[in-house]
Amino acid sequence: MTTSNDFLHRFQLERAGVRGAIVRLDQAWRTVRETGGYDGATASLLGRALAASALFTSALKFEGRLSIHLRGSGALRLLFADCTHDGLVRGIARVDPSAASAGARLETGARLAITIENAATEARYQGLVPVESDDLARAFEGYFERSEQLPTRLVLGAGEARCGGVMLQQIATAGGAPLGDADGWNRAQHLLATLTDRELLELPPEQVLLRLFHEEGVRLQPAQPLAFGCTCSHERVAGMLRSLGREENEAVLAEQGSVQITCEFCGRRYVFDDDDIAAVFAADAPEESSPTQH
Ligand SMILES: [Zn+2]
Repeated sequence: MTTSNDFLHRFQLERAGVRGAIVRLDQAWRTVRETGGYDGATASLLGRALAASALFTSALKFEGRLSIHLRGSGALRLLFADCTHDGLVRGIARVDPSAASAGARLETGARLAITIENAATEARYQGLVPVESDDLARAFEGYFERSEQLPTRLVLGAGEARCGGVMLQQIATAGGAPLGDADGWNRAQHLLATLTDRELLELPPEQVLLRLFHEEGVRLQPAQPLAFGCTCSHERVAGMLRSLGREENEAVLAEQGSVQITCEFCGRRYVFDDDDIAAVFAADAPEESSPTQH
């Protein structure tokens, strides 16, 4: 299921009063990259977003899912990554095909949404901010500052074989004062900035944290395994087809003999024949509704 190279570790820097997480994706990243055929700048952005989604779940206080949804106005149309509380990650990127060779760049003016879904209550919390940096890690830091008033620093990296990241967040007391010494947050940020891509993607996590923070009293928690996982299902696809309306589905049936949907995340193919489509619309009366995203 998982390898030792797909992991999330939470940690604390006792002296600096900082909590953090370190993530690496190996097999899971290769599965995402190969399923979508991503390379170059697009792969680099998607790998970073995927690592970030796993880092952000480290602060999740209930069972559920956290998703990153970035909509661009330039060549990068969409960047999406999500991670569940038990460490299943998936992601997709969409680039304007006419601008493919120009490469996918993050541009200011893009919109970044982070959504948290509570599996038990089905409640959804969403924060939405405009992107004010052409660097993905800075864009996420801006999100936490604007949306959560939570000082956050991130280093993200992605190569062909692996992606990963480290996140630091300042812990405050109930009264709002920093928990560490006066210079703790400043010091932790500067130490994090010295992390290289090679260290991030190749060194064991214990060594990364020791190298960066050996004087800060690192408390490393046990690894949580991460793995690629998709939550698509016949029922979810049926729901999506229902939202398109009976007429639309029947037109496709008449033309192609069946309605075929391929999941963009995992490549799984769903085929609905006449009987399946009849079943999709049997449960409730046909009604007009606008197409929704899945
Ligand atoms: Zn799927």
